[in-house]
Amino acid sequence: MVDVRVHPLTLAKILRHGMQFSGIEVAGVLIGRLVGDVVEISDSDTGPQIGTTGHVKLARSVAPLIAEKIQRQGRSEYIVGWYHSHPGFGCFLSSIDVDTQMGLQKMFSQCVALVVDPHDFIFSGRPGDAEVKMFRVQDDEIITLEYELILDTDKILRNFMDHLERGSEQYITALDKIRLEFYEWNRRLEEKINDASEGIEQIREELERISEILRQVKPT
Ligand SMILES: [Zn+2]
Repeated sequence: MVDVRVHPLTLAKILRHGMQFSGIEVAGVLIGRLVGDVVEISDSDTGPQIGTTGHVKLARSVAPLIAEKIQRQGRSEYIVGWYHSHPGFGCFLSSIDVDTQMGLQKMFSQCVALVVDPHDFIFSGRPGDAEVKMFRVQDDEIITLEYELILDTDKILRNFMDHLERGSEQYITALDKIRLEFYEWNRRLEEKINDASEGIEQIREELERISEILRQVKPT
């Protein structure tokens, strides 16, 4: 049974964040909502933080400010978890990560801890080499969550258009840079998603078209 569904562009955005600071850990929050028992992640956001090669700490103000922003935008979403990178040492929860996660689960029991390791991707250039895992702590044990990508074209486009309407520039910039990587990466995930490649191709074409329009409209 799947525990988490994630929009592919959100995953790409997180990966991109990790790649921009390839030698140090980065972190941010996951935004989405609970659909039945499944956490649907539709966006990520971040803010001031201090990262080293083996540790990262988000400023205390980051999550409250993001929560406030989501509310102000009138979105029916909320913070459903957090992400951070483990550059080059694989995806797991350290004892500090477990403490962080347990604290967050007290506030939201379904809270997701997403860990990404972009290291191999950076060196090989093959997006499929990026490692992504999601965790939760249950009865003092770390559980690896099953996740799948949301590959419904309409849903992805709607999510994307929502972002455009909110003028999420960070997202647009990220999108522009990751288009190709995203496509390649998803190709590697084909084992997981089998017959979805046709859908991905459609999405890619659609996103390329939108990006093309954006490039003309937005000077940035
Ligand atoms: Zn960690």
